[in-house]
Amino acid sequence: MPGSHPENPHKRDARPEFWQLSMRCCQLAGGVDVAFFFIFLILGSPVLAWVNVISVAMYVYAYRAFSQRRNRLAIMLIRTEVLVHAGLGTVLVGWESGFHYFLLMFIPALFVSMRARSAWILAVCLWLYYVGLDVLMWYIEPLQPISSGALLGVHVFNLTIVFCMFSYLALFYVVTVTRAHRRLARMATTDPLTGLFNRRHIIELTEKELARHHRRPSNLTFMLMDIDHFKQINDQFGHDMGDRALVAVSKALQGALREQDFIGRWGGEEFLVILPDTDLEQATASAERLRSAIESLELEQDGERVSVTLSIGITQYRAEELLSSAVARADHALYAGKSAGRNRVEIALA
Ligand code: GH3
Ligand code: MG
Ligand code: MG
Repeated sequence: MPGSHPENPHKRDARPEFWQLSMRCCQLAGGVDVAFFFIFLILGSPVLAWVNVISVAMYVYAYRAFSQRRNRLAIMLIRTEVLVHAGLGTVLVGWESGFHYFLLMFIPALFVSMRARSAWILAVCLWLYYVGLDVLMWYIEPLQPISSGALLGVHVFNLTIVFCMFSYLALFYVVTVTRAHRRLARMATTDPLTGLFNRRHIIELTEKELARHHRRPSNLTFMLMDIDHFKQINDQFGHDMGDRALVAVSKALQGALREQDFIGRWGGEEFLVILPDTDLEQATASAERLRSAIESLELEQDGERVSVTLSIGITQYRAEELLSSAVARADHALYAGKSAGRNRVEIALA
């Protein structure tokens, strides 16, 4: 199928949106040519009227080819139609008809659908064709001239269509690029399994929070959490169940936190939570709530309950210290909780 060439990484792989856009252009251009058929019949230019009938047929055929994923054929039909139609329209009615503007629509289409080198070569050919047509019309008179009022009408109509097409194209690219950017940003900042922030992003967010804290000191608390005996869950119920448990724990934690708190997956079954404007007492109450929410999670496999518990280490951020030392203190508290029997909230003392 043209447009997907996994074997050749240099070949440009136009995105599905591009083919959708091309199909919409087929509909629009076909509609415009139907209108032109009647316009030129009324203006007494039967040759141009029949050119439009052929154009409509080509667009219908190109649209069908797109639907059948014969994209290469469809693109070839559209290119031929635009080149011939713009050339014929110009030669028959004159340069002022504005049919040549449609040739400009090729430029973005070339660069989006093929390798840069081929696109440049075709762009130069297009330029030669365009300039050649312009120069030709300096020397010859239109073969089927229409009245000057009609010529102005056709010119304005063509200009309007090209304006609409360019605006639509620009909008299409903005939407496509914005979507791609959002997707990449999401991929770069979140953990694919749990949907929580990944370690890199939670560090970035925390560094920002620390900078804010340096400017305007306030209570800031860290929680480091680790699922208890997670290896056993994997061993007893399988890795898939382990993944499901991770997802369920992440959702429950996210749901139980406040709007201003942020949570990230710190490691395999470890989570880091940052609680701005929260003192140790409030954080301990929060942690207890989270611990109890996880303990009462309803998880089962083949009728057997899968019990999940969390151990939580809490520490208060100390002015000017590094993020790593606050996390190390929370880690200490966490492992004190593990040693004391797990499913516990432990506060870092020193
Ligand atoms: P402890 O209570 O001391 O924390 O014991 P534990 O078994 O939870 O800790 P340990 O570090 O021995 O095991 C963690 C396990 O988590 C080992 C690893 O295979 C598993 N794990 C890490 N990431 C994932 C994951 O994405 N999916 C699944 N299913 N398991 C994971
Ligand atoms: Mg663990
Ligand atoms: Mg662990």
